[in-house]
Amino acid sequence: MKKSFLYPLLILSLSFLLGACSEQQKDTTKPKKEEVTETKQNEETKGNEPSTAQWSYEEETGPEHWGELDSSYSACTRGNEQSPINIESSKVKTTDKLENIEVQYKPTHFSIVNTGHTIQANPKTESNSILVEGKEYKLAQFHFHTPSEHEFNSQTFDMELHLVHQDANGKLAVLGVMIQEGKANEALAAIWDKMPKSETEKEIAIKESVDLQTLLPSNQTFFNYKGSLTTPPCSEEVDWIVFEQPIEMSKKQIQAFQQIFPNNQRPVQPLNEREIIKES
Ligand SMILES: [Zn+2]
Repeated sequence: MKKSFLYPLLILSLSFLLGACSEQQKDTTKPKKEEVTETKQNEETKGNEPSTAQWSYEEETGPEHWGELDSSYSACTRGNEQSPINIESSKVKTTDKLENIEVQYKPTHFSIVNTGHTIQANPKTESNSILVEGKEYKLAQFHFHTPSEHEFNSQTFDMELHLVHQDANGKLAVLGVMIQEGKANEALAAIWDKMPKSETEKEIAIKESVDLQTLLPSNQTFFNYKGSLTTPPCSEEVDWIVFEQPIEMSKKQIQAFQQIFPNNQRPVQPLNEREIIKES
């Protein structure tokens, strides 16, 4: 995919926050030797390790309370560039100066974990990356939500896939892909076969390689905005790239996930002063 999209090239301050959709990041960093070299990421992730306040998607530890559960989660309540958002057509600005994004995915071996909040796949190698204006962001992990977290004109989808990427400084770029009921998704079949029903201590290796390229929608028009992790600590300065066209999974596949996680969706957050941009 070659697309360009407007990126108000704010030179983002050095202080980059940790991994997207959060606690999952911890899981990727611990057992992975190749990520030990990404010192900054690891230091920061480690720094956040003590704040393991329990959070969930319901009641006292649900999204409305995340900000109160731990001081390091304050952005969940106080941040003003939070994710997910409702992408309302009337608020989308089209431009021909989009940031240039190039997806470089190859068939790769993954292992999966049930983090207690989602099913997450961690790559065995660093062979998947995206280039944003020529800058490389490596795939750290991908995971799922149901129903979708982002909304299009207040419409949710059955599920949403988040592909979390990190550059050498720990800056994050997340690809979001909506999932609707339709044909069985062959690219994810091997992962779905092994999905652990309860929280796992150890990663489960998937024998077959997964080609993420085949997971992406054929029309790669996307929305771009600046947001945050959608799980505590809700850190901001995340570059969100949300595809407009959904992909499909069978009803059976969607239900298999929902049996493990009936709802792991953070509600949409205020857009505030942010711009959502799309290629004209
Ligand atoms: Zn997520």
